[in-house]
Amino acid sequence: MELHLDTPVEALPGVGPARAGHLARLGLATVGDLLGYFPRDYEDRRAGSTIAAAPPDRPVCLTLMAAEPPRLSRIRKGLELVKLRMVDDTGSLNVTFFNQSYLKEALHPGEYYICYGTVEGPPGRRQMTNPVCEPAGRARFTGCILPVYPLTRGISNNLLAGLTRRCAEACAGQVEEALPPELRHRYELAGVEFAYRNIHMPADEQALESARRRLIFEELFQLTCGMALLRSRRDRARGIRFSTPPVEHFLALLPFALTGAQRRAMAEIAADTASGAPMNRLVQGDVGSGKTMVAAYGAWLAAASGVQCALMAPTELLAEQHMRSLAPLLERAGIRTGLLTGSVKGRARRQLYAALEAGELDLVIGTHALLSEGVCFRELGLVITDEQHRFGVAQRARLAAKARQTPHVLVLSATPIPRTLALIIYGDLDVSVIDELPPGRTPVETYVVGEDKRQRMYGFVRKLVGEGRQVYVVCPAVEEGEGGDGLKAAVAYAETLRAEVFPELRVGLVHGKMKSRDKDAVMSRFAAGELDVLVSTTVIEVGVDVPNAALMVVENADRFGLSQLHQLRGRVGRGKHQSYCVLVSDTRSAASRERLRVLSKTTDGFKIAEEDLKLRGPGDFFGQRQHGLPQLSIADLAGDMRVLKQAQQAAEELLAADPGLTRPEHAPLLERVRRLFAEHGEMFN
Ligand code: ADP
Ligand code: MG
Repeated sequence: MELHLDTPVEALPGVGPARAGHLARLGLATVGDLLGYFPRDYEDRRAGSTIAAAPPDRPVCLTLMAAEPPRLSRIRKGLELVKLRMVDDTGSLNVTFFNQSYLKEALHPGEYYICYGTVEGPPGRRQMTNPVCEPAGRARFTGCILPVYPLTRGISNNLLAGLTRRCAEACAGQVEEALPPELRHRYELAGVEFAYRNIHMPADEQALESARRRLIFEELFQLTCGMALLRSRRDRARGIRFSTPPVEHFLALLPFALTGAQRRAMAEIAADTASGAPMNRLVQGDVGSGKTMVAAYGAWLAAASGVQCALMAPTELLAEQHMRSLAPLLERAGIRTGLLTGSVKGRARRQLYAALEAGELDLVIGTHALLSEGVCFRELGLVITDEQHRFGVAQRARLAAKARQTPHVLVLSATPIPRTLALIIYGDLDVSVIDELPPGRTPVETYVVGEDKRQRMYGFVRKLVGEGRQVYVVCPAVEEGEGGDGLKAAVAYAETLRAEVFPELRVGLVHGKMKSRDKDAVMSRFAAGELDVLVSTTVIEVGVDVPNAALMVVENADRFGLSQLHQLRGRVGRGKHQSYCVLVSDTRSAASRERLRVLSKTTDGFKIAEEDLKLRGPGDFFGQRQHGLPQLSIADLAGDMRVLKQAQQAAEELLAADPGLTRPEHAPLLERVRRLFAEHGEMFN
């Protein structure tokens, strides 16, 4: 039967309703889906050899003749062996198959087979166990580079490899070429048919490499184009035009002078919101750079323009912190602020809802609770999300959907992201960078120490607490055995510190498996100075402001990314006291130590992020799938930085010539971009 890209998988030989169901779990419904289901790895099964010459340590393909009828023996229930002697010109070999009793009937003396496996034993007693065995001349899974696919229950790799091969043979030529020819020529990219054939059935390494490069390039190229289209669509949308009262009136509310970088970001926000198009701006600034004041300015502008503002923070604690610092300040400008978190319940919550809907509140600060159905605004004009990487694009969009007219969006992030990646993650946002810290901060002194200095480190903790300061101790695991042996686990370690090391100190514990209510309670006690030492996991990474905390100890520091350590370190050095960060690591790897030392040399978050990128790849930034990007099927952003840069350049050039991808020759590309962003359909209509 003839296959087409939209032929359902059930039409393929060997696929009945049950297998079709399993394939559906992998998102595979049609021949086209199978073609686009890329291998996660390859196994090179090309090496050929002979019985005499086969190496002892790696699998090879042997062409063998069955020298006798196979013998079936049942060792015990659940263990059946099929054994036979096979030969070639150089010798003979005993082959054993486990639990494949059907082979007793399938292998015939005098016929030739390809066996792929490792030959063991000395000459004269050569043997092979469980080789892949196929009739010579009809070999499908031997003598080739075999693709290895991500699997699911009920679907074997051989089945998938067989299906994708069938589809690639029949339909690779039917996939429309979505990359313009000049572009393919300029970046030396393989054609689409070649790419789909060789990704599933590589002719050789070179063919595989160029197939992969083409497909990765294509995916990143489409992603970049999609981001650019989102941005241009937004530029055309109508936004609420804010008025811009003299900034001095805002500055007069503050207890300190703002930094130049804060002022620049504010000017950009004022220009965006007055432009008539909706703002979509990211304010990126290192921990402690004063992003909250920039957000306050946004809320002030909104109020001055007669519309409401919502500020969403990732935790209750942070929302409360913002409430404490912003509400009194803005009140002096007549701005009425409310707090909405999960803990606001019953009558208080109903009153808040009513006040928001009636326009009796100008600013609401809260958590995810802001997304609740009951939350209605009279006129929402500005949406601010703090610590963006905790929220996805979709959540931002959900809050924005509560507005009648496209609201302005402001995103605050402390994650310093190198430029290339920022284009991918925040491609639809304009960026303001706050690259200056408020004056009077003394940089955190950072030390990398080994296990041998542990007692001294404990002594240092006692000394600082004796001076009235507080201390964070961060562990890589919650419970013992998690993440690997020898890692400090917060629960047990807190107990040890409490009972044995610091019996005289007040030691608290907070970790990610606790209920957020309990977590917040412990954090509040720490913030109120009722705890001296806080043992935790990385839950304290985000935005908490306890100025009296002057020491951050990180256990098994080599287990963390540099950017993450930098975020953790940002929890101290927020007050007037000299602060310290001690990175405890017993790693013997010189490279790991060198990596950690970067932190003792610089406090520049961007430099540290670049260094992280060089050393570890961008995995850190993409660790959580919370960035709201479409799922990529082949491009691994960790390994494909060079291709990413080229794809970005190509997208920029193409869009300069055809900004909306409206030219007829770009129709296939536009279609592919739409599909890539399918989960964000609403953004494209
Ligand atoms: P982040 O950018 O990490 O969110 P915050 O906005 O929490 O930083 O600011 C950190 C601390 O610095 C807060 O206590 C804030 O009041 C203070 N701060 C912000 N801007 C300035 C400034 N220009 N001068 C002095 N202190 C400032
Ligand atoms: Mg902050």
